[in-house]
Amino acid sequence: CGRGSRKGSVDHGAMSGNPYAGLVSRLRAAWLSGKTRPMEYRVAQLEALGRFLDEKKQDILEATALDMRKPSFEAYFSEILLCKNELNDTLNNLSHWMKDEHMEKNLVTQLDSVFIRKDPYGVVLIIAPWNYPIHLFLVPLIGAIAAGNCVIVKPSETTKNTERLVAEALPCYLDNDCFAVVTAGVEETTKLLENKFDYIFFTGSPSVGRIIMTAAAKHLTPVTLELGGKNPCYVSDNCEVQNVARRVAWGRFFNAGQTCVAPDYILCSVEMQEKLMPALREAITEFYGSNPQESPDFARIVGDKQFRRIRALLSSGRVAIGGQTDEQERYIAPTVLADVQPSDPAMQEEIFGPILPIVVVASMDEAIDFINARERPLALYVFSCDSKVVKEVLERTSSGSFCGNDTLMHVTLTSLPFGGIGNSGLGKYHGKSTFDTFTHHRSCLHRNMGLETINALRYPPYSQQKLGL
Ligand code: NAD
Repeated sequence: CGRGSRKGSVDHGAMSGNPYAGLVSRLRAAWLSGKTRPMEYRVAQLEALGRFLDEKKQDILEATALDMRKPSFEAYFSEILLCKNELNDTLNNLSHWMKDEHMEKNLVTQLDSVFIRKDPYGVVLIIAPWNYPIHLFLVPLIGAIAAGNCVIVKPSETTKNTERLVAEALPCYLDNDCFAVVTAGVEETTKLLENKFDYIFFTGSPSVGRIIMTAAAKHLTPVTLELGGKNPCYVSDNCEVQNVARRVAWGRFFNAGQTCVAPDYILCSVEMQEKLMPALREAITEFYGSNPQESPDFARIVGDKQFRRIRALLSSGRVAIGGQTDEQERYIAPTVLADVQPSDPAMQEEIFGPILPIVVVASMDEAIDFINARERPLALYVFSCDSKVVKEVLERTSSGSFCGNDTLMHVTLTSLPFGGIGNSGLGKYHGKSTFDTFTHHRSCLHRNMGLETINALRYPPYSQQKLGL
């Protein structure tokens, strides 16, 4: 039913070496026609997205299971439920968000209209990664449609089954004049990025983020970059160890650790490391049984390349829990590494897998210095029964987001803007922030044609009297 541009297919403009030029200009013409502007149109497309989620629920669960054995509970929660929350929040608030915002006037504009118009940007590009292959294109898409844009969605080519499902099913729900799915690898995405977009929303790694920003700079296109990095998790000596272990293990091993906001490593005292080890072992057994490889609730690594990269990190420190791997299945057991040194391989890159290193620090001050000496993370976690400790770490560090005494949960709130800082990204989304991201806040002054005597004060010929001097 759709007209989504398939990989290798040649659109208008192919002769000029730009296979996507025709698609982009078709969407631009649709945007210029004003079709996406009325609220009724936006609502109809958003409701269609809701039907996509409802009617394709089973296909989404199956595709994500085929791609990375994503447990159905985790897929339902992250790919469907959280998207529906965003959708409902947007549908409930859209008429309010779209309204002109009336602003303060000064003495000479008392009879005028001073307002901010919520304008769509135009034609936007959304590029998504593979780890939450529905959620990470759908949540931005909700905001882009709500804001009145035409959109090209480029899902990840790594999760082939989900990519195919999106390319085939999504165009059956959305207006193909205004919304398209492009399936593309690196080479084709490079071509796609040669086109002028009015906004680019990218989720992925910091290294590709730089490539996207460079391509966007050629056209002065604004960007949101939702990137990754290493998220520290400081555990103070004063805490409920078993609860900490469960909450950290859940955040680390959800989706087999392939979550941008997963706690990447623990910082704690040597005494706390001793206490945490049995508690983490108990939590892992509670969650996944004595052999996690047999658990239906534990995912697999997405690809062979990623599997080998993560397995190589097991040489860091000492394997205290887990450590088993099975290349055939791309299985890496939920693993905890003890006594990891800052110079070890696991501390040189974002782990993005089910491995949790523990780095011993002497004090909270040392933990704070450790965090501040590195790139600013996407998320920062602190566990303590003493709220002064949580507040102090919050006060003395910087990160995209912060969560005290839990992991991941802050991301589930549509009321909290989500995004990174520095190396972990640029811009924010979720809830109203997604709508605002895809909205140009256009400053408007609509003057009254009368009261020309007041206006005369600013016209030449000038005089000192006109300035009131
Ligand atoms: P990636 O950067 O390799 O790929 C992301 C997207 O960019 C894919 O669609 C891919 O096709 C495209 N791409 C890759 N190389 C490209 C190039 N040279 N030119 C143009 N496009 C290119 O990331 P990934 O491996 O899919 O995802 C993992 C990364 O994403 C991790 O760093 C993770 O932390 C991050 N991430 C961040 C968030 C967030 O919300 N901040 C969410 C999920 C993942």
